Amino acid sequence: MGGRRGPEEPERQPEGLFAVEDLMAEAGAREDRPFRDGPEARRLLRVAEIHAEPAAAASWRGRQIIARFPHARLVRTDSHWRIPHLHGNEGNVERWVRIKRETLVLGERSSFAVRPNGRSADWIAPGLSNGCAMACAYCYVPRRKGFANPITVFTNVDRVLNALGRHIAATGPKTEPNQCDERAWVYDIGENGDCSVDDLISDNTADLVHAFRRWPTAKASFATKLVNPDLLRLDPQGRTRIRFSLMPPDDSRLLDIRTSPVPARVEAAADFLEAGYEVHFNLSPVVIRPGWRQAWDDLLRMMDDVLPRRVKEQAAAEVIMLTHNQDLHGVNLGWHPRAEDVLWQPDLQQPKRSENGALNVRYRNTVKREAVDALSRTIETRAPWLRVRYAF
Ligand code: SF4
Repeated sequence: MGGRRGPEEPERQPEGLFAVEDLMAEAGAREDRPFRDGPEARRLLRVAEIHAEPAAAASWRGRQIIARFPHARLVRTDSHWRIPHLHGNEGNVERWVRIKRETLVLGERSSFAVRPNGRSADWIAPGLSNGCAMACAYCYVPRRKGFANPITVFTNVDRVLNALGRHIAATGPKTEPNQCDERAWVYDIGENGDCSVDDLISDNTADLVHAFRRWPTAKASFATKLVNPDLLRLDPQGRTRIRFSLMPPDDSRLLDIRTSPVPARVEAAADFLEAGYEVHFNLSPVVIRPGWRQAWDDLLRMMDDVLPRRVKEQAAAEVIMLTHNQDLHGVNLGWHPRAEDVLWQPDLQQPKRSENGALNVRYRNTVKREAVDALSRTIETRAPWLRVRYAF
């Protein structure tokens, strides 16, 4: 990799609904990020090595990221998809966590397709990252790069924003309400990572939040397990839905490795609403284990106690039962077998071959139906204000 360079104007390709430079020019106003440099963020990320595709390193966003971590060693890579010693499931959890904490990959996104969804969101946007610094035992994000995958940041932000702008313009206004949203087309911007963590690295999340502010027929949406107070400064003006993922705290301590505690996620909801976000909740994954019903009852009562009325009035939830995977089960047995005591329940689960050939398991139909019914009743009793958008 060549030496570090000073900032230069990047090549821009204005198209879509408005010029991308307008969005990215706002980046200068976002310097004040105390959480980013604080102890909690450093526990999660202390970047010592950056693997970068040459074009990504030379890009405007790439240079910003490299400048932000001046002590990190730069390593050239030809493809963010092929860094064998970083990816895969070999080694142990200490090594994976070290890679996730100390390593970043910079790459250029090559596909810009917007995919239909219809459940959590109307559309899945081409995301600006892939991989996560956290390490939830049930996470499906490592399915392609293995559990040791660090965050890959995509630096060609302008192309992603242009693709979104074109899609939104071509789609036009939403004329019929659906469970995703009454009025706006909802785009999930964080399918393969956690946008709150990505914000510790660059302004990619801020660029997306600001872009959706200018698209009146659309709304961004992302799920998160990290409370990042720096996001409160982005002024999303109601055009971004943040979905705090929740599960009973005992389950979270066992399964949600490196995330913010569940009570902190609940307590943050009011601040995020105040800051201009729509705040929803992902009740997920729901893991059936001895005492699970009481644990969810306790969590919903805690939400009812803690959340102010203004949060409740606009809240909605997605309820998602656990889906697991045979390969991930094998990986987890090697480093976190206690997680598998609750995640892997052959008596309750049935296999399902996914489109890419992986063997997934999910709760048997009757088990799942009874569990969804039971949890729905608990929500009606303990948190009747919580509209369930879908239970799956
Ligand atoms: S926070 Fe989300 S993306 Fe990150 S490890 Fe957990 S489930 Fe995966």
